[in-house]
Amino acid sequence: MAIAYLNGEWMAPEDAKVSVFDRGFMYGDGIYEVMAVYDGKVFTLEDHLVRLKRSLSAIRLPSPHTDGQWRSIINEAVLRGNETPAYLYLQVTRGVGSPRSPVYPVVSKPTVLITVMHAPVLERIEIRPYKMVTKQDFRWGRGDIKVISLIANGLLKNEALDEGFDDALLFRDGELTEATASNVFMVKDGTVLTPPKSNFLLHGITRDHVLGLLAVAGVRCEERAISHAELLVADEIWITSTGSEVWPVGQVNDCVIGDGAAGVVWQLVDRLFQASKE
Ligand code: PMP
Repeated sequence: MAIAYLNGEWMAPEDAKVSVFDRGFMYGDGIYEVMAVYDGKVFTLEDHLVRLKRSLSAIRLPSPHTDGQWRSIINEAVLRGNETPAYLYLQVTRGVGSPRSPVYPVVSKPTVLITVMHAPVLERIEIRPYKMVTKQDFRWGRGDIKVISLIANGLLKNEALDEGFDDALLFRDGELTEATASNVFMVKDGTVLTPPKSNFLLHGITRDHVLGLLAVAGVRCEERAISHAELLVADEIWITSTGSEVWPVGQVNDCVIGDGAAGVVWQLVDRLFQASKE
């Protein structure tokens, strides 16, 4: 049963309602987290709490809860939702402000929404390598803050879909940043490469988790700039996110990557990733 928590109350998600003057609705003035729930437990919860606080602080919104309170609300949501695997979505906006004023309310009462819903993708029944198209990353310069305003990500994703691809790989000033909702890894001659953290891309929890697994396994990894030309001749490419874990890419534009199927390093990472859930 899907469940929603809205400002201290529990309800069915379809019954959760917020004011039209909520700054999340008016200005996209809020941040969010998406977590995976496996076997009734939130995966990498502590890392999500760290990023949640970082995003709140970056948009100058004091956290409405302490870490202990967040943990207990999140754990209660998982128990009440009773879905597995599931996505736990957590959103905090700056709450209701005066209509059409960009100025922050003096006393703001943030709106906190949490939902827990079944996540069929995490059952990993069919893993079909993605076809990706490269596009210019025209998003704002703070991709490191997990803001709810996802207009540019949505435009880029839907352009890619309309062009017959699954998603877009984004480039800023000739360098790879990320995909529309995931971080990107490539493999060349046995070395795993991923763009370094910067203000232009989200510091993905899955990205860091995968880098940790690779380090323990003794696989050589480099966090460095990746050019368009370099990406197209990769031996393997994968994307990482909470929503899709580690997902292989078989084609970029009209170039087949490797032999178009999930590669050997992907298979290793996927095995390590699945084992790390236990
Ligand atoms: N980049 C973007 C733009 C994203 O939206 C996401 C997650 N949805 C990621 C990267 C991956 O982040 P995480 O591994 O923390 O889910």
